[in-house]
Amino acid sequence: MDPQPRTNDRPLIFAVDDDPITTLIIEDSLAHRFQVEIASSGEQALQLFEQLNPDLILLDVMMQGLDGFEVCRVLRAHSKGQTLPVVMLTSQDDLDSIARAYEVGATDFIAKPINSALIAHRVGYLLRAHATLKALARQERQLAAAQRIARLGHWEFDPAQGRFQFAEAACELLQLPHRPRGFSLQQLLAQVHPRERTEVEQCLLSLDHEQRPPIQFEHQLCTGGRVLRQNVEYSSEFSGWLGTVQDVTAMHRSAQRIIKLAYYDRATGLPNRDFFLESLQRRLDQDDTAELCVLVVEIDALKRVGMGWGQAVTEPLVRNLSRRLMADLDIAAPEAPLPSPQAWNPDQPQLLARISDAAFALLTTAHNQASLKLTKRLLSALSQPLAVAGIELPMRAKVGLSDALDCDQDADTLLHHALAAAATACLSADKVQTYHRDLDIGERSRLTLEARLRRAIDQHELELWYQPKVDGRSGRLIGAEGLVRWRDPEEGLISPGRFIPLAEETGLIVPLTNRVLDLVCADLSLMHAPGLSPVKVSVNISAAQLDDERLPEEIAERLSSAGLSPQNLELEITERALMARLDSVLGTLSTLHRLGISLSLDDFGTGYSSLGYLGRFPIDELKIDQSFVMDLGTGAAGETVVRAIVALARELGLWVIAEGIETQAQATWLCSNGCEWHQGYLYSRPLERDAFLRLLDRRAPPPWSTLPCLSARSDRARR
Ligand code: C2E
Ligand code: MG
Ligand code: MG
Repeated sequence: MDPQPRTNDRPLIFAVDDDPITTLIIEDSLAHRFQVEIASSGEQALQLFEQLNPDLILLDVMMQGLDGFEVCRVLRAHSKGQTLPVVMLTSQDDLDSIARAYEVGATDFIAKPINSALIAHRVGYLLRAHATLKALARQERQLAAAQRIARLGHWEFDPAQGRFQFAEAACELLQLPHRPRGFSLQQLLAQVHPRERTEVEQCLLSLDHEQRPPIQFEHQLCTGGRVLRQNVEYSSEFSGWLGTVQDVTAMHRSAQRIIKLAYYDRATGLPNRDFFLESLQRRLDQDDTAELCVLVVEIDALKRVGMGWGQAVTEPLVRNLSRRLMADLDIAAPEAPLPSPQAWNPDQPQLLARISDAAFALLTTAHNQASLKLTKRLLSALSQPLAVAGIELPMRAKVGLSDALDCDQDADTLLHHALAAAATACLSADKVQTYHRDLDIGERSRLTLEARLRRAIDQHELELWYQPKVDGRSGRLIGAEGLVRWRDPEEGLISPGRFIPLAEETGLIVPLTNRVLDLVCADLSLMHAPGLSPVKVSVNISAAQLDDERLPEEIAERLSSAGLSPQNLELEITERALMARLDSVLGTLSTLHRLGISLSLDDFGTGYSSLGYLGRFPIDELKIDQSFVMDLGTGAAGETVVRAIVALARELGLWVIAEGIETQAQATWLCSNGCEWHQGYLYSRPLERDAFLRLLDRRAPPPWSTLPCLSARSDRARR
């Protein structure tokens, strides 16, 4: 019989039997649901198989020629027959044949005589089962491919037997041989991070498996630096553990990169402000510890270096500073894998972070006295000057402290308090300030003051007042010091003590000094009016401006465009300012000196200078600080200091002047000890410009000329 081509998409059943009655029954029972093709021998079956490509074969075991077993064996070796459902037709009680049928790869058997009412159901069921198996195999292939792409594998662990079974992908990921034998739980545990090992072990060996939620752990392979994540959960289907292992190296690297960018400072590798705040908040949320203290270390020099030289110069300096701090605090640099704030171990005693360009923050449990002690140590660790572009910059660090008691468990506030404290620390002698509530108000009014001062400079609210310098023997006016005043429309006259430190800190000192120089040049021009006897005038220059090499040129330009000679001007620089910049300012001072502008060392005696340096600097005058003048004539220690300064000035060929003279006794003492130039309230308070101009009138004697101490002395003018 010629086989029929497939007529429709009904499943094709190929019945092979040499008994025509059986094939007739089969055809009769199945034809209503399936397309049925018949072969009457094994040879014919093999011949037609490829052409028919059936969905199921019913194969009689006993046939003339090739029997069913042989046909089945050949079919199973054929590429299209490997998974095909082959159902053997055997006699009812022929158990041997049934066993042999399974041996040669049969799917199932149907016993003869064939039950025509049931065979269609049986065939239908077998076809469905086959379709399910095929779909399963396809899904398995897809799963394997997906796992390969996702770098996933799985394993099973039978706790009763202590046996593992690994999928091939899992072997590859865990770097195990194909189908490893005798892999033990201990070997798996050895790959788990010690921190998680006990939990994983307890979980895998526990008896109440059903209660256990899935566990997840990550570990790094010793070889190749790959990171694997394993998820282990109990499966009641086979009463064991199902592990899924995934290679998360790439993910891990990306996550690390994100953490690094989001939470670490690029220059120092230290945690950044966000890290600090988040970790601090976790710490505050965890325990209501009042023991926590935040310390902010601000380094002014860094801001200035940043402004002057840019990042390329600041970064190595910041690294250097962070290393000094870490060494002092015994804090190790963060190591890979870098923790995020959520993964940071809050039990660590200290956390150091770089929170801005010029500030570090430290979270510590050191409290009260301990934190102050720590602060002192940090300041001394930072006290070494910084070398920048061949110059040594003094460090001038300041520290603000705040503790958790003050902040209502809020990280932002706690850090803000420490910052507010640091901002005002510059005003305290030891550069350390602990937060208290008044500081907030102080900081707010500082900000307002800064804005107002900026406006005051622009809108010419600054004035220059002049305090006479007098020859203490003759009473002759020999010069004046220009002292800035701020005439605020609302507050009236504000003295420099209130705004010069703020101007220095905020950089406003530069426009302020420019304004003072404009004023002094304009006033000097007035002093040269006919009928007046002009004198040399000094103005004060702030420490920070000495680093500016353009300063001498700018002053010279101002003088020349006002038609003034440099001899008319003197600059006062405090001894402290000079001491802090010994090496960096020599050039600036020398240029000023060359230009003919004289230099006076203000507040002399308070800067603890080693006197050896004086000879190296082009200084013209020493101005004895008023603190020494105060006690003169009473036999106090100040007298010895003043005598020494006068002797030193004489030795070095420098002028010497004393400031803050309030009594005749002080004036007399100074004159008899070789200091004849005086400045102080005894002679005159600082005067408004016009009042001072009147003093220059040759015809009028100065108001102090009637002082009894003067008339007692001879009139020997020196300047
Ligand atoms: P300084 O340069 O040491 O100025 C002397 C200060 O002592 C002045 O205070 C002056 O009014 C005051 N004084 C003078 N004679 C006596 C006296 O007999 N007794 C007492 N108790 N005080 C006396 P002032 O004007 O308040 O200036 C304070 C400081 O502000 C100055 O100290 C100076 O360092 C700074 N300063 C003033 N004007 C300027 C300026 O234009 N630029 C800069 N950068 N600083 C300035
Ligand atoms: Mg002065
Ligand atoms: Mg002074």
